[in-house]
Amino acid sequence: MIDQIHEDKNVCIDCQTRLGNILQTDNFTSEEIHLLDKPKRMIIFTVPVKMDSGEVKTFNAYRVQYSDARGPGKGGVRFHPEVEEEEVKNLAFLMALKCALVDVPFGGAKGGVEVDPKKLSKGELERLSRSFMREIHPFIGEQVDIPAPDVNTNAEVMGWMVDEYAKIQGKFVPGIITGKPLSLGGSKGRTEATALGGAYVLRTYLERTGKTVEGSTVAIQGFGNVGAHIARILHEWGAKIVAVSDSKQALYNEEGFDIPALLAAADSGRLSNDTGAEVISNDELITLEVDVLIPAAISHQINKHNVNDIKTKLILEMANDPVTTASDAILEEKQITVIPDILANAGGVMVSYFEWVQNSSNDYWTVEKVYSELETRMVAAVNSVMDDCEAEGYCNLRKQSYLLSVKRIIEAERARGRLS
Ligand code: GLU
Repeated sequence: MIDQIHEDKNVCIDCQTRLGNILQTDNFTSEEIHLLDKPKRMIIFTVPVKMDSGEVKTFNAYRVQYSDARGPGKGGVRFHPEVEEEEVKNLAFLMALKCALVDVPFGGAKGGVEVDPKKLSKGELERLSRSFMREIHPFIGEQVDIPAPDVNTNAEVMGWMVDEYAKIQGKFVPGIITGKPLSLGGSKGRTEATALGGAYVLRTYLERTGKTVEGSTVAIQGFGNVGAHIARILHEWGAKIVAVSDSKQALYNEEGFDIPALLAAADSGRLSNDTGAEVISNDELITLEVDVLIPAAISHQINKHNVNDIKTKLILEMANDPVTTASDAILEEKQITVIPDILANAGGVMVSYFEWVQNSSNDYWTVEKVYSELETRMVAAVNSVMDDCEAEGYCNLRKQSYLLSVKRIIEAERARGRLS
């Protein structure tokens, strides 16, 4: 069956491999799998931008609405030079699984523009964001598909996009997009939501396995929004953060970093090494002997070059798709526990959901309420995955999470009458 599906050019190859892995553990029908091995809708377009020089450049862009079974599409928009169709499909598929796993009433989607935003001026970035919204607006909506921030996009970008949508529609529709600035209907707690959600997941996992955050040694790859916030939170909770990195350098301090000092010294997300910490390579960080390894940067950072040397016993995937599929099998053989991205980093989409609820009710929550709802729901999600695992011994949390998500999506497809 798998060979036959490969011939379909719309199929998401990565998604199919992942689904194939679950097929081995449960009996899904080919009809059910076919509903999930390719996206429901894919929009491939170009975004024209007038550059500061006066020249107009066009950038390749994608929005993949993978599933609408459980609700409108939901997922971020990334600006990155390596954005391409297959990757966006795969990330949209992961969003569908993520939303189902943490039980928010959304399908899954993802968007991206193939651009290096670091090479754009502020004005060019704004024109790119507005142009993206002009091109995509017929295909999104508060009950259709709701974009959000992702790699290299933030509240400011969402603010430009919601404003552009308002200009086109002639009215302000805040629920069209999440991760907005507070002054435009954003939610309190959205910025740190992904990191805080991940910290709740880690704490719950450790407690259930007889350990604690306090005293655990941690290495974090990536010092963007997610990496920096999770470093801060875990440090506040008593963990010892022994290694950190950004895209330029990795730093190691056996005694544990003074994270508030590191954050204060960081210059727009760049680590400064005034502390005299030891400079190590990225692969050295990945292969450190720590209690918890947290990839919080970009995809495929755990790969054939470093996977065999990994020494930690626990990986918390804060980035999306940080482990290649082949390396994942090796981690399983080595009985290394991976708390998968669709669980670990779901705090972002969870608070996006809260934001969307606040926008439709016009009832804005306190940050305490956001944190407490986030905690309740993230803890419930970890518990539901862990309850499904054997009480003792090694359990593949990724497979368990996928299984739970796929079952929920198929249940919704069945309820819609899309299955025989
Ligand atoms: N980009 C984030 C993710 O990958 C958040 C998506 C959202 O809030 O819709 O989960």
